[in-house]
Amino acid sequence: MLEPEDPSSDRLKHHFARRVIHQARLTLEVWQRLQRGAWNASEMAELVESNVLLLRYAQRFEQTEHSQLAEGIHNSLTAVTENHGRLNSELISELNLLMQRLSRTGLRHSDQLEQTLLPALRKPIYIALQDHQQAERLSLQLQSFGLLTQALDTANGFRAAMAERHPAAIIIDINFAGSGCGLRLAEEVQNNRSEKLPLLFFSQEDTDTDTRLSAVRAGGQAFFIGSLEASSLLERIETLTHGGQYEPYKVLIVDDSRAQATYTERTLNSAGILTRTLTEPARAMSELAEFQPDLIILDMYMPDCSGTELAKVIRHNDRYVSVPIIYLSAEDDLDKQLDAMGEGGDDFLTKPIKPRHLIATVRQRAARARHLHARMVRDSLTGLYNHTHILQLLDDSRSRARRTEQPLSFAMLDIDFFKKVNDTYGHPMGDRVIKSLAMFLKQRLRKSDHIGRYGGEEFAVVLPNTDAATALLVLEDIRQRFAEILHPAYPQDLSCTFSCGIAELTDNDDGKSLSKQADQALYSAKHAGRNRSAIFSAE
Ligand code: GH3
Ligand code: MG
Ligand code: MG
Repeated sequence: MLEPEDPSSDRLKHHFARRVIHQARLTLEVWQRLQRGAWNASEMAELVESNVLLLRYAQRFEQTEHSQLAEGIHNSLTAVTENHGRLNSELISELNLLMQRLSRTGLRHSDQLEQTLLPALRKPIYIALQDHQQAERLSLQLQSFGLLTQALDTANGFRAAMAERHPAAIIIDINFAGSGCGLRLAEEVQNNRSEKLPLLFFSQEDTDTDTRLSAVRAGGQAFFIGSLEASSLLERIETLTHGGQYEPYKVLIVDDSRAQATYTERTLNSAGILTRTLTEPARAMSELAEFQPDLIILDMYMPDCSGTELAKVIRHNDRYVSVPIIYLSAEDDLDKQLDAMGEGGDDFLTKPIKPRHLIATVRQRAARARHLHARMVRDSLTGLYNHTHILQLLDDSRSRARRTEQPLSFAMLDIDFFKKVNDTYGHPMGDRVIKSLAMFLKQRLRKSDHIGRYGGEEFAVVLPNTDAATALLVLEDIRQRFAEILHPAYPQDLSCTFSCGIAELTDNDDGKSLSKQADQALYSAKHAGRNRSAIFSAE
């Protein structure tokens, strides 16, 4: 016989699960803060404390996965304490791995697929527009991208929602609930908050400078006029809420002196920066490919080859032209330093160097390099990886799959009859459809998947640890949901479909043939009538 369901116990469970997720988020926030500032003792203590609470809640409310992660984090943090509060690369990587997993835990679909939402986006987005129907429409559109949204229609409803839960972001009409009321409500909400909530203003009509100024003072980060369109909004929300980063910086140190290298490592590790040391420059290239550092510190003088020679070798590889190289040496002859800088270096630090100076230099250079790198490898229309980089990632993932003996799939997507979209609605509308598919893929795929714009209306996805059958399930789900989206257009809204080809890595192919196979599968999906997916088979 079936047990009668007890709805109140279900509700309770749900309530407690939310508490665990909330605590996980707080823990992640402290972790994020540690990445930005110096790792001081009080922040470390805060991390320990927050994680202990997480562990306690997770155990009490039987959230197995959270318990396991919190326990792992607790062990790593204890190890740091036992190491006299000193971090090392091993501990940093260990913590980082657990935090990455924690950031993805908690919102599993029943069918075991992980959701990709950032923790911040697990909070709702409040939409308060003068035109309530427009708010509902926008809310639904954003939901189809996987966001949590809530459309609000009165000032009191808005206040009540704010009192109950702080949102990930607010989209508010200047004239929501009356002329100029939206602006005042926003001011009210932001008042006395040390960290302002992400706030986007909207107005049906263009406004005067005074209003704009008030909007800025209320902490508005964007001002949309006339129309609100889901995918461009989503883009703004993403950049606003994606501010924090979880990944520690990675530094490769090449130095023939073990003692000097250890000193540099200790200094950087104490600031939460991940390091790896090479004492034989000959292994530099393979180490670079494997470790993918944000920055390289080179010793000027080594027995086998000089730092400047090695810098040239590194710069010969297109992939590493933008990785900053810092020379570290006792050299205090200015001419030689200048020569060294001409040879592909970015900075020159003279030993002995103050720890604070080293840390600050590395942080600044690494942050800037990440920023530049992100722009170099990304496509400007969609923000996805560009053609060259997605193939590079396919290559990397292939080596990793081989090494770890895990499956790997590669998928190619192409929008169906896209030429017709351009011809009927114009090129800008075509661009918008491309963008919205890009956003859709970002929202729906896992964080560990790599998504690229392969060409015009073609996309490529690298799915590590995924066999073709699973990739098919994931992409079929995406395909069906994407087809349901109505893109707002004139004279009538339009919907679009795409076709998809999938290939799985086998023992004897390289990256080239994998992309060729996915392309062939895509061709057969097109040939079989479009709006479908196909897996490559050798016959
Ligand atoms: P099929 O179902 O066979 O894929 O048909 P299709 O019309 O999608 O394919 P085709 O390759 O013939 O046309 C692709 C069109 O995509 C042609 C090109 O003008 C357009 N396109 C390529 N890049 C862009 C872009 O960045 N923006 C816009 N708006 N259109 C683009
Ligand atoms: Mg095409
Ligand atoms: Mg096409």
